[in-house]
Amino acid sequence: MAKRYDVIVVGAGPAGLMAAKTAAEDGLKVLLIERKKDLTEINRLCGQFTNVSMINTGGKLKYGYTKPIRLEVSTYGTRIHFEEFGISLDYEGPWRPYLNYIYFSPSGNPVYREKGRFFGFFTEKESLLGGLLKLGEKAGVEIMPETVAVSAENIQEGVKVRVRCKSGEESLEARRVIAADGTRSAIVESVGLNEGRQQLTKRRISLVGYVVEGVETEYRLNSWVAFTIPSLNPHTSFIMSMLSDDRNEISAYAVGERSAEENLRAFMKVSSFSSWFRRVQLVRKVAVGGAATWTPIMEPVAGNVLAIGDAACLIEVTNPGAIACGYMGAKATMKEMQGENGYSDYIAWWQKSFDTNDPDYLKGAGRGFAINAVCTDEEVDYLYRLVGGQIGVPGVLVAENLEQVKNERLELYQKLEKAGLGRDLSGMKLDLAKVLEEKGGQGSPE
Ligand SMILES: Cc1cc2nc3c(=O)[nH]c(=O)nc-3n(C[C@H](O)[C@H](O)[C@H](O)COP(=O)(O)OP(=O)(O)OC[C@H]3O[C@@H](n4cnc5c(N)ncnc54)[C@H](O)[C@@H]3O)c2cc1C
Repeated sequence: MAKRYDVIVVGAGPAGLMAAKTAAEDGLKVLLIERKKDLTEINRLCGQFTNVSMINTGGKLKYGYTKPIRLEVSTYGTRIHFEEFGISLDYEGPWRPYLNYIYFSPSGNPVYREKGRFFGFFTEKESLLGGLLKLGEKAGVEIMPETVAVSAENIQEGVKVRVRCKSGEESLEARRVIAADGTRSAIVESVGLNEGRQQLTKRRISLVGYVVEGVETEYRLNSWVAFTIPSLNPHTSFIMSMLSDDRNEISAYAVGERSAEENLRAFMKVSSFSSWFRRVQLVRKVAVGGAATWTPIMEPVAGNVLAIGDAACLIEVTNPGAIACGYMGAKATMKEMQGENGYSDYIAWWQKSFDTNDPDYLKGAGRGFAINAVCTDEEVDYLYRLVGGQIGVPGVLVAENLEQVKNERLELYQKLEKAGLGRDLSGMKLDLAKVLEEKGGQGSPE
């Protein structure tokens, strides 16, 4: 006879931990299944950035969870508020304010997306998860670590979940399941929610990050820094973010035949920035490999299974977005169990609370990458010098200054126009899916 719960939550990331805690606090009998041994350990890359404001994105380019978050630092401690729900979470880890968001061209010309304004903060993800776990345990969540959920099947009056743990395979049952097992969700696949989803990249996206100490630049303590260097990466930027203890994380994607790590090492030698990294000590290496990018599941419900967080999204919901999904997912599940339409509430909320669920998102997002994809290093230097006095996203600022580019560099203007880098996104020919699919080199996006 399978064990039976009110709710089984699969995956103990921010979405699953929040869902389990919330459901248990509401009086439900909750089981949380997680494949890791230590639930709070993070071995993969994560910028650990949270935006408190709608960061300066211009046009339609927002990112992730679009509802406001507030960080409260007081004599009594630090709390993160989720304004739309009127709830707060205590946070006991380190934090730091982000004051600048800067893009650098290959020769070091800066474009500020944010300058001298508190637009977000670093929080340590392990502390964030640790806080949620403590609350879940206090509320009575039963936890099964080192257990892989293999599949879920809707049955009469509930769901059967097959799991694999050290002692072998077994079946567990619940009235409802919340799938919070991340981008490559086994639960989503097994209940058929991937059907009709478009896979945006055939190749596997691989990223590596170095956690380092000893970066020598004034930007190391208060800035999110992106480096646009098409000769090394024609798809995306290199990123440097802040961590605690005077540490930074620098990250790179794999490109063509070059591994992410080879690419990262090549970046650290680029002359304009090599002095920043000449004395760095590597603390640890973190990686993300093989993640595919799918279009979002607009109605993430199959029978008695609700998919939340990264399990249902395009790219990522972000950490605060995942926590919000966990809260809403638990409340929706509770309502369903009381005979009300909780899932339709969730679907309506899900569709409007994440810009990545906007059908036009991919078109707009492509604009952010057009400069990498079609320009040479020298052209990026020119464009960043041109718009460097203004505040905003380089792709948007360049689009707004295309007339000047046309007057000064006709060939470059024609290239950018051909890629669709105009004010009007309806003419955008370069979408994110296409950029991600492009192979290495300076190829045209056409
Ligand atoms: C490179 C990178 C950088 C990022 N940077 C930021 C950032 O700066 N700021 C930000 O807010 N967000 C960032 N994110 C996004 C953020 O990490 C995710 O959106 C968030 O973690 C999603 O939470 P989740 O709970 O839905 O999924 P996850 O955090 O992926 O959690 C899923 C959990 O399920 C477990 N699991 C998976 N499969 C199974 C299974 N079959 N059985 C049992 N357990 C399973 C996993 O071990 C994991 O613990 C970044 C993501 C990446 C990849």
